[in-house]
Amino acid sequence: MSTPTYLWNPPPVYSLPVRGRPEHLAVNRLFFVGRNYHAHAVEMGKPVDKASERPFYFTKAPSTLVLSGATVAYPPETQNYHHEMELVVVIGAPGFRVAENDAAAHIYGYACGLDMTRRDLQLAARDKGRPWDLGKDVEQSSVVSEIVPMPGVLLDQGELAMSVNGQPRQKSDLNMLIWNIAELIADLSKFYHLQPGDLIFTGTPEGVGAVLPGDRIDGHIAGVGEITLHVGAAE
Ligand code: MN
Repeated sequence: MSTPTYLWNPPPVYSLPVRGRPEHLAVNRLFFVGRNYHAHAVEMGKPVDKASERPFYFTKAPSTLVLSGATVAYPPETQNYHHEMELVVVIGAPGFRVAENDAAAHIYGYACGLDMTRRDLQLAARDKGRPWDLGKDVEQSSVVSEIVPMPGVLLDQGELAMSVNGQPRQKSDLNMLIWNIAELIADLSKFYHLQPGDLIFTGTPEGVGAVLPGDRIDGHIAGVGEITLHVGAAE
C-alpha cells in the first residue's frame, strides 16, 4: 500500500520529556477526573458520596498540552481563569477492564499537572446541562512537568501544593483522593481501552482560584517533582 501524501502537514506527535532518558514519551489521550477530593467537591457545591457514586471524567485534546515552565496567553472569552493542581498518572501498558489488584502493572510513571479551567464557562455549562468543553478543553490548558518513571508504583500519599506569585493557594495530600490510583485505573478502563501514553489527571484539591496576566504558578508533589506556569497577556 502506498504511503499517502497530505494536503497540509499532519499534526505533530505530542510528547513530554522523561527524567533520566533521552527519549520523549509520546502522549495518546488526556483524561481528567472530576471531583476527587471531598473539600474541592464541597467548594464546587457538589459533594461526593463514594458509597453511591462512581468517578466521572472529561477529556481534553492532546493539542492542549504545554510543558512546565512555559508562558501561556491568558485565554479568550473568560473573566475567571482558574488553576487546578493535580497528580498525573502515565499509563505504560494497554489495559481494558483492569482489576484493581492489577492496576499497578499499567503505570509507567507520574508527573505534576495543571488543569487550567475557564471556570465561568465551565459552571455556566454545568448549570445548563451542557458539555464542559469550552470551560475545560482550552488551548494551552493542560500543563505537565517532565514524566518521572515509576513503573508499577501506586502513589498513595505525598504533599501536593501550589502557590501563585509566592502566595499559597492549594495544599493537600494524595492520601485525600476519594478514588485512589488503582480504583481510577480499574474504573476508567471499564469505559476505554487504556493505551501507553494515556495521561490521567487525578483531580484537584480545594483552594482553586483565579490567575491574572503576569501571574506565576509554582507547584510541587512530594516524590514526583515541580511545575511552573507563567500567565502572559490576554490575546
Ligand atoms: Mn481538574
